[in-house]
Amino acid sequence: VLPARAIGCYFLVNRYALIGPITVASAFFHVVYIGGNVISLAYGVDSITQAASRAGTLSLINMMPLYLTTHLSFLSDLFGVSLPTYRQLHRLCGLMAMGHVIFHGGVALTHHSRLSTGMPITDWYPLIGAAIIILLILLSLPLFRRLWYETFLRLHQLLAIGVVVFVFNHLMTIAEYQWRPLYIFIGIFCLLGAFYLASIIYNNLWPGSNSRLNVDYINDDLVSATITRSRPLNISPGQYLNIWVPSLSLFSSHPFTVASWESSSQTHLKLLIKQRSGFTKKLAHLSNKNDLRVFFSGPHGTSAPVGEFDYILLFATGFGIATVLPYVTKLVHGCNERGYKGKKVHIIWQVKNLGKV
Ligand SMILES: Cc1cc2nc3c(=O)[nH]c(=O)nc-3n(C[C@H](O)[C@H](O)[C@H](O)COP(=O)(O)OP(=O)(O)OC[C@H]3O[C@@H](n4cnc5c(N)ncnc54)[C@H](O)[C@@H]3O)c2cc1C
Repeated sequence: VLPARAIGCYFLVNRYALIGPITVASAFFHVVYIGGNVISLAYGVDSITQAASRAGTLSLINMMPLYLTTHLSFLSDLFGVSLPTYRQLHRLCGLMAMGHVIFHGGVALTHHSRLSTGMPITDWYPLIGAAIIILLILLSLPLFRRLWYETFLRLHQLLAIGVVVFVFNHLMTIAEYQWRPLYIFIGIFCLLGAFYLASIIYNNLWPGSNSRLNVDYINDDLVSATITRSRPLNISPGQYLNIWVPSLSLFSSHPFTVASWESSSQTHLKLLIKQRSGFTKKLAHLSNKNDLRVFFSGPHGTSAPVGEFDYILLFATGFGIATVLPYVTKLVHGCNERGYKGKKVHIIWQVKNLGKV
């Protein structure tokens, strides 16, 4: 397994400002995914209108993973991949769905033709739906997303609901439309939603699951906080919680890596939080910083199996050290308790101003 994993991780394109890194595994996946879509679109079609009709179905298939749940962290855990990988997949499916929609709508408009029997020619729903999909993709560009994350997220969710409304209205105009796959999808969506809701209730509302947030220390840049739970939580190094503090920010939750690690489950979870301009700033400037009711989902994320390796190289920039700390604690514990002898651990930590950390 290890050589295959090593080949998969080999960089075809290094990390640059606008592109990369592209690994062998990611290039392979892209080729299979894009190739699969192109073949499904073109194989055995007789006319461009037939291809366009198929593009409509393919756009729906590509949209399905986008709508599986509202929380990407939950889905990335379910598929056993990291959040950045799942976000890439989410983006790719969105772009592919948009490509199919543009082709589908473009052919329908230019050929002034009905792509399915029984469909009215003057149907505005698909046009509005397609425009929303394009807007949704444009508003997801990093510039807007990074500058106004909360606005981006709410708009993204609102537009996504808009797409569902217009797509459903469009499908209802198709006389012979086969609804069964959509019903199955809705069933899966409800099942995942119920599972996610149950995990939230179990972690936050079940008797003995009360969690409180206390701010321990603040400087210009850093907020150190502790979540105290009555029921212990098992957390692996590198995992994070999506926390929601309604008294501070009613409509948003924020992900933070748990910086502490213990061999058994933890009741005191340490967070190292960099002060930014939204929720984190409010947290730092709150007059009463103790005993805030906190709700969370998680723990989310994958943990690197550091115990398996003899040479371990850990990189962190600035506050990213919060992710590295639990690995170091686990390795030190492993050396003391389990005899991890002969392991070589190097930590490379880039810090702009050591006094601020
Ligand atoms: C998996 C994961 C683990 C993280 N762990 C830590 C950690 O241990 N310590 C730490 O200081 N930071 C961590 N972050 C980043 C942290 O979540 C954001 O800095 C925080 O949510 C910003 O809140 P804000 O309202 O003050 O941000 P703003 O000032 O509004 O925005 C600052 C930046 O944070 C991003 N951001 C804002 N809200 C969110 C959100 N809900 N989800 C993701 N990104 C957001 C925006 O894109 C923007 O670039 C982590 C992020 C992720 C995705």
